[in-house]
Amino acid sequence: RAKAAGGNRFELADPEADARAITRHGLTTALPAALERGEFFIEYQPLVRLDDGTVHGAEALVRWSHPQHGVLGPDRFIPLAEHTGLIVPLGRWVLEQSVRQALFWHQQLPEGSTGAAPRVNVNLSPTQLHHPGLVADTVEVLERIGLPPGGLCLEVTESALIGADEDLLKPLRQLAEMGVDIALDDFGTGYSNLANLRRLPLSVLKLDRSFTQGMQQHPADPVDLKIVEGIVSLAHSLQLAVTVEGVETGAQADHLRRLGCDTAQGWYYARPGPPDQLHTLLLADAV
Ligand code: C2E
Ligand code: MG
Ligand code: MG
Ligand code: MG
Repeated sequence: RAKAAGGNRFELADPEADARAITRHGLTTALPAALERGEFFIEYQPLVRLDDGTVHGAEALVRWSHPQHGVLGPDRFIPLAEHTGLIVPLGRWVLEQSVRQALFWHQQLPEGSTGAAPRVNVNLSPTQLHHPGLVADTVEVLERIGLPPGGLCLEVTESALIGADEDLLKPLRQLAEMGVDIALDDFGTGYSNLANLRRLPLSVLKLDRSFTQGMQQHPADPVDLKIVEGIVSLAHSLQLAVTVEGVETGAQADHLRRLGCDTAQGWYYARPGPPDQLHTLLLADAV
C-alpha cells in the first residue's frame, strides 16, 4: 500500500484504504476484550404476520458499542470475528441472550393470553455452522434456560450452504428434528439452487429485500410480482413459510400479503430496537 518514491520517501497510495485497514486491524484485535467487557448488545426487530399484523417474534441483531468508534453494525465486525474464530464465543453469547429474552417475553404476557409464544431468530455464520459444538451448545442453552426448541429459529444464509454435503447438514438436521426451526436467510442473493431446497432441513425461507424493491409503490413491477409469486408457491409446496425482509412501505406490505407471504420484517413495521420495543408490541397484540 505504500509506494517507494525514490530515496527514503514513501507516498501513501490510498490514504483512505490505509485508514480502513488500520481500523480493521484495530477492531480485530479489540474483539476478545470487547466480549469480556460486555461491549456487545442485541437489538431485536419484530417479525410481523402479514395476515393479521400481529407480532410473532423477532430477529436478534448484534451491535458493538465501541468506546472510540461508537455503535458499530454487524457488517463492520462479524466478518472479522468470523476470520479469527471469535464468532464462536460471540455467537454463543448472542444465542444465550436471545433465548433468555424469548423466555422473558413469553413470561411477561398476561395469563391466559392466546396465540403462540413469541419466537426469537438468531443468525449463524459459516464458521458457527462448521463448529463441532453447535448442536451440543444449542441444546445446552435451551435446556438450561428452559425455552422449548420451537421458540428458537436459526438463520443460515444460502451462501453458507453452497455445496453443503451431508456432514455439514447433519447438525442442522439434528436441530430441526428436535424442533428448532431453520430459516434460509437472504434467499435469492446466492446461486439459488431451487432443487437443493428440498435437501435442506428448512422450515422458513427468508426472501432477500432485493425482491421487494420493485414493490415500494402501487403499481408494483409486474415481473417482480411474478417472481415472488413463483417463489411463494414453490416454498409453500415444500411446506416452507415465507418471510420477507426489508419491507419499508405499506404498498410493499399490501403486495406481499396478496402474494401469500406469511411474515414480514422491515422499517415499515419497526426498526431493530431494544427488547422493550418487542415487549410493548406483544402486549398490544395480546388478547
Ligand atoms: P440479516 O440477517 O439479513 O439481517 C437483516 C438486516 O436488514 C439487518 O441489518 C437489519 O437491520 C436490516 N433491515 C431490517 N429492516 C430493513 C429495512 O426495512 N430496510 C433496510 N434497508 N434494511 C433493513 P444489520 O442489523 O446491519 O445486520 C446485518 C447482517 O449481520 C445480518 O443480515 C446478519 O447476516 C449479520 N448478523 C447480525 N447479527 C448477527 C449475529 O448475532 N450473528 C451472526 N453470525 N451474524 C449476524
Ligand atoms: Mg438474518
Ligand atoms: Mg436476511
Ligand atoms: Mg440480509
